[in-house]
Amino acid sequence: MISSVLPTYNRAPLSFVSGAGSWLTEADGRRFLDLGAGIAVNALGHAHPALVAALTDQANTLWHTSNLYQIPQQQALADKLVDHSFADTVFFTNSGTESCELAVKMARKYFYDKGQPERVEIITFDGSFHGRSSAGIAAAGSEKMTKGFGPLLPGFVHLGFGDHGALTAAINDKTCAILIEPVQGEGGIRPVPDQCLKGLRDLCDEHGILLIFDEVQCGVGRTGKLFAHEWAGIAPDIMMVAKGIGGGFPLGCVLATENAASGMTAGTHGSTYGGNPLGCAVGNAVMEIVSDPDFLAEVNRKASLMRQKLEGLIASHPNVFDSVRGSGLMLGIKCKVAPGDVVNAGYAQDVITVPAADNVIRLLPPLIISDEEIAEAVTRLDKAAASLDAS
Ligand SMILES: *Cc1c(COP(=O)(O)O)cnc(C)c1O
Repeated sequence: MISSVLPTYNRAPLSFVSGAGSWLTEADGRRFLDLGAGIAVNALGHAHPALVAALTDQANTLWHTSNLYQIPQQQALADKLVDHSFADTVFFTNSGTESCELAVKMARKYFYDKGQPERVEIITFDGSFHGRSSAGIAAAGSEKMTKGFGPLLPGFVHLGFGDHGALTAAINDKTCAILIEPVQGEGGIRPVPDQCLKGLRDLCDEHGILLIFDEVQCGVGRTGKLFAHEWAGIAPDIMMVAKGIGGGFPLGCVLATENAASGMTAGTHGSTYGGNPLGCAVGNAVMEIVSDPDFLAEVNRKASLMRQKLEGLIASHPNVFDSVRGSGLMLGIKCKVAPGDVVNAGYAQDVITVPAADNVIRLLPPLIISDEEIAEAVTRLDKAAASLDAS
């Protein structure tokens, strides 16, 4: 008999009743060190006092009105995002998938309004992930996500990750945009080298097409910059954000330049919940903390510490681990055994990691993780690897 919850997930036999900082607790009191952060969502850990205060204050005042009216919390968050990024304007969503929908619509509408309605094709890359809507799965294009779901939204061209030759050849007079994650998340923590991001920017400028970055997983301080592409010193025209921006409250957004957003006039897009007072109250609290240069400096310091300790871990378990990669506190360990086995061995040592494609386990700890917790995490991962070494 089918479970009352639609069985689309392979769930681990863990169930948490509370969280604080980098820790999650089960009903019997067993505590886990959380290096998953709800897949890069709990950027400030669990029950961060500033986020709890922002949410409860707003909950006691006003939950929801409608985008039919002015929403001051939304205006404030948009102003912050514009102040701290390449963008001139922001649309609020509830998830990364919805941000992908708008990014695709915005890019196509841009060329439609420019009198080039045939420019609809968006170039994407193998191993990418852009959400589970019809546009999201068509954009990523992997059989695992698309098979059985009928005709896909047309207009996506899929290229090999890092295949420069194919990229230049793929651009034609139907191309409207290139869509890429500056650091692939689900695909196995694969950073796009800065040089390549710069190259993509140049290519888009040369052909007059739009560059869309999906920073749903790598954005909001995760890599040690507010947004990952800042490391490359270039900017996109459109950017998708979600996960960390709500710190656990469902919130996403699309950032864009005035030019790229020029087609999105009144009535062209909307959302019932997107940017409501509750979500934006939390988003403002997240941004206040994460956009602080001192906070980001700490993320970078802790990221080097963690990476250095992980290099040691890998050296001690050459049969289990291959290498470490990633950017900031978005780290991946390439495994020589099934990553699911490593994640399970971690659970047995009360440490949480997240599997990804390409034989990788992901370490996406809360950005507020302490030095002591980093050391403890690596000790636990060491025990987990030892249990696999022995078996
Ligand atoms: C998680 C993710 C999405 C989808 O976000 P949802 O909030 O699950 O809809 C899109 N792109 C990337 C890069 C992601 O990591």
